[in-house]
Amino acid sequence: MDKQKIVILGAGFAGLSLAKNLDEKLFDIVLIDKLNHHQFQPLFYQVAAAQLEPSSISFPIRNIFRNKKHISVKMGTVLHINTESRLVQTETEAISYDKLVIATGCKTNFFNNAQIEQHALTLKSTTEAIQVRNHLLTIFETLSSQLHLADDPRNNIVIVGGGPTGVELAGAFSEIIKRVLPEEYPQLDPAKMRVILVEGSANTLNNMSELAKQASQSYLKSMGVEIITQTFVKSYDGLDAILSSGEKLTTKTLIWAAGVSGNILPGLNPDAYLPNARYKVDRYNTILNHDDIYAIGDISYMETSSYPKGHPQVANVAINQASNLAKNLKRMVHKKPINAYEYLDLGSMATIGKNKAVVDLPFMRFKGFVAWLVWMFLHLMLILSVRNKLIILIHWSWAYFSSDSSLRLIFKGKTKKEN
Ligand SMILES: Cc1cc2nc3c(=O)[nH]c(=O)nc-3n(C[C@H](O)[C@H](O)[C@H](O)COP(=O)(O)OP(=O)(O)OC[C@H]3O[C@@H](n4cnc5c(N)ncnc54)[C@H](O)[C@@H]3O)c2cc1C
Repeated sequence: MDKQKIVILGAGFAGLSLAKNLDEKLFDIVLIDKLNHHQFQPLFYQVAAAQLEPSSISFPIRNIFRNKKHISVKMGTVLHINTESRLVQTETEAISYDKLVIATGCKTNFFNNAQIEQHALTLKSTTEAIQVRNHLLTIFETLSSQLHLADDPRNNIVIVGGGPTGVELAGAFSEIIKRVLPEEYPQLDPAKMRVILVEGSANTLNNMSELAKQASQSYLKSMGVEIITQTFVKSYDGLDAILSSGEKLTTKTLIWAAGVSGNILPGLNPDAYLPNARYKVDRYNTILNHDDIYAIGDISYMETSSYPKGHPQVANVAINQASNLAKNLKRMVHKKPINAYEYLDLGSMATIGKNKAVVDLPFMRFKGFVAWLVWMFLHLMLILSVRNKLIILIHWSWAYFSSDSSLRLIFKGKTKKEN
C-alpha cells in the first residue's frame, strides 16, 4: 500500500503532537512552520519577567524529529493553499499533499485598533517575550540614571487583559519590583512603581471558578497590583491610555493580553472561516466543505453539546484533537469507523507569584502553596526535553531559595516598541 502524504501546517502543540502520533508505516509527513522551533507559550511570561531563558522554552523542530525518516521538517511561512491542485505555497516552494492539516494557532487580536497595535507590547512569541523583558529592564536602567520622580510615565506598567497571561505577568512584575529593585536598582523607589491590570469583565481569571477569581484578585492586591475591572482600554498613543471609564493612565508600557484571533490562510472556501478567524470543523476536525483538509488546536472551531460555543483555546484541546485525528486518519486507511472528538477537561490553573497559584480540577478547587506546586509540576511535565526540564527545574529552585533569577540581560536591536 502506498503511503499517504500528510502536510501539517504549524508545529505548535497541535501540529507537533499530530506529527508524533501519526503511524509511520502509513504516512509520510511534511511539517511546516514559519519558525525553526516549537514555543512553549504558557511560560512566555517567565521569559518576559526575566525568570527563564528563552532557549529553555524553545525546541528546535528538526532536532525533535531527527530520527524520524518519515517526517520532513520545513521552515517557511505558508502563504496560500490551492485546494484544486492540492498545493501549499510557502515563500520558496509549492508542496503537494494528499491530506492537509492546518494547525497555525492564533495571533494577538487588537480588535481593529491600529493605534494600540502600533504602540502596545504583546506576548504571543518568544521574540515578543524578549522584547517585553528588554523594554522593562531598559525602563529600570533609564529611570535609575536620574532623579526618580513620582509622576514619571515610565513608572507605570499597564497590562490589558485579566486572563491567565495578564494575571501571571502582573504577579511576576510586582515580584520584580518588590524583590529586585531594592537590591539592584537602589536609585529607584519601588513605592513609585505601579503595576495596573485592566480587565473588561467583572473578574480576573473570568473563565475559572469563583475561588480562582477571588483568590487571584486578593493575591494580586496583596502584592500591590492595582486592578481595574469592567473597563476597556479604548486607545493608547504610546503615552496615554484612555479607558472606557474616561480615566487616563499615563504609561510608557502597555502590554496587550486581551485576546487572540486565528492565523487563517487564504485559499479555502469563504464559508470555511468564521468571523472570529477560526475554521469551522465537524466533530472529526474536518473543515466545512473541504473533505481532505482538517484544522486542529486554537485555529479550529468545533461545537459540541458540552461546548456549544467552541472549546477553550488551550494546549490540552490542541494535543487531544491531534491525538484523535491521528487515530482517525489511521482508521480511515483501514476503512474503519472514525471517532468524534470529545474534550475531557482536566482542569485549568494559573500562578500569581511565589507560593501563590489557583487550580480548578473537575472534582476540586484549591489555591496557595499546594496549587503552586501542582502548577510547577504539570508545566515541567509538559516541557519537551529532559534537558530543558532540568534547566527549568534548576532555575525555579534557584529562584525559590534565593528569591532571584539573575537572568536580567538586555539583548536588543532597536525596534519601534522599545525605548
Ligand atoms: C502567553 C500565553 C500563555 C498561555 N498559557 C497557557 C496555559 O497556561 N495553559 C494552556 O493550556 N494554554 C495556554 N496558552 C494557550 C496555548 O498556548 C494554545 O492553546 C496552544 O499553543 C495552541 O496550540 P496550537 O498548536 O493550536 O497553536 P500554536 O501553539 O500557537 O502553534 C501554531 C504554530 O503555527 C505556526 N504558524 C502560524 N502561522 C503560520 C504560517 N502562515 N506558516 C507557517 N507556520 C505558521 C506558528 O509559528 C506556531 O508554531 C497560552 C498562550 C499564550 C499566548
